[in-house]
Amino acid sequence: MSAAQKPAPASTIDAAALVARLRQTFRSGRTRPIGWRKAQLRRLRELATDNQDAILAALNEDLGRPPFEGWGAEIRTLQLEIDHTLDHLADWMRADSARAPLFLQPGKAYVVPEPLGVALVIAPWNYPFQLSLGPVVGALAAGCCAVIKPSEIAPATSRVLAELVPKYLDTDAIAVVEGAVEETTALLEQRWDHILFTGGERVGKIVMSAAAKHLTPVTLELGGKSPTIVDRSANLDVAARRIIWGKALNAGQTCIAPDYILVERSVKAALVDKLKATLLEFYGTDPKSSPDYGRIISDHHHRRLVKLLEGQTVIAGGEHDASERFFALTLLDEVSPDAPVMQEEIFGPILPILTVDSVDEAIGFVLDRPRPLALYLFSGDRANQDKVLAETSSGGACVNEVVNHFAVSSLPFGGVGTSGMGAYHGKAGFDTFSHHKSVLNKPTFIDPVVRYAPYSDTRKKLFKLVM
Ligand code: NAD
Repeated sequence: MSAAQKPAPASTIDAAALVARLRQTFRSGRTRPIGWRKAQLRRLRELATDNQDAILAALNEDLGRPPFEGWGAEIRTLQLEIDHTLDHLADWMRADSARAPLFLQPGKAYVVPEPLGVALVIAPWNYPFQLSLGPVVGALAAGCCAVIKPSEIAPATSRVLAELVPKYLDTDAIAVVEGAVEETTALLEQRWDHILFTGGERVGKIVMSAAAKHLTPVTLELGGKSPTIVDRSANLDVAARRIIWGKALNAGQTCIAPDYILVERSVKAALVDKLKATLLEFYGTDPKSSPDYGRIISDHHHRRLVKLLEGQTVIAGGEHDASERFFALTLLDEVSPDAPVMQEEIFGPILPILTVDSVDEAIGFVLDRPRPLALYLFSGDRANQDKVLAETSSGGACVNEVVNHFAVSSLPFGGVGTSGMGAYHGKAGFDTFSHHKSVLNKPTFIDPVVRYAPYSDTRKKLFKLVM
């Protein structure tokens, strides 16, 4: 049989056996005590701390990721998330008491979080370390077992995860499965107690239909086009710096990168000048040689980005080199809302600038489109800040900032509408992997007969009095 005639290789993993093994661990109760959870979280922190060089080298191999950026965005954010979780876990695990009504007194009502069980975490390639392990912080905190499926598009980081996780974490509770569609499909056929998927809308739908077969709850962390509104009252120097910083991070391959700018006409020229000046200041006249600027993940994505420039007015950047998968941060002027670059999530260092006559027009533009994962507003006007936040809906939002709401562990992170469902980070991560069980515990020393048949008039009267 020639190679061309060969059927697609079947998945080499025995997904059923893996889930059965983890389920056995979960049923043994080993993962429930706070001691196990905290010990695993500390080990996860050590994994990130002890192996910084190997992790940063893998990120560099996959994404040309500058080490300082890799450290901040992937290693440090994970450590902060773990620290926050360790600090608060005992509180989160505590049962919350509720008030039982008079007719159920003296009963104790409370809500107690319990681990959901065995979870599946599917990660994308863009922050391949942080987005594989970040959700695991929530799973461990909740006392769950988990399988991590890193992205095959970032193979060096996937390999590092597959090597390190078994060295640091309880191997009967946490496993890494490397692979692509076949492996993920095999995993998705299993019954999970929760699936947390980070990736695109198309695969999100595949994950949700697979989960529906078992009525498994899902958290979908998807993407979309995150607008950045700049009004006439904005501090334009700061806006330009923060927008360029957020867009250049990981060469624009960030789910919450500012996707496009909507700027008020009266300050547009000034903002454009400052954006251009900031680009020069940050990356010089030859951004390809900047040690602080990453690369595009694959030839496919590089070609996709080059195509998005067709017919557009480039006012800064525009250089690209397929041989190095380099793509300069590129500003596009007066982009039509119908242009392909405005139809799909850009997920690369292209920044279209569109002009609006008012903040109301910007709000209308946002409302006419799917609800974004993030929305950014640069404004010094408190009324405009309140208005934009009140009248738009997005997974998260920043005022006079971009991207960094992700780094606040006490803020739930997630999308809304087509940008996702559910959330994690901090307490939200713990809650995502927990079931909040309602309990009523009644003593037996008192058992008034009024609740029981036969319902005489006296019993009914008495019962109505206490109910
Ligand atoms: P993707 O949807 O292509 O892949 C994500 C994961 O799904 C990978 O592990 C991949 O192996 C797996 N997969 C791919 N095809 C599959 C299939 N047919 N069946 C089952 N599994 C399959 O996403 P990506 O390209 O890795 O990441 C880019 C997208 O992720 C962007 O849309 C971005 O906005 C989004 N994203 C969202 C967040 C967030 O936190 N909301 C973070 C990062 C990226």
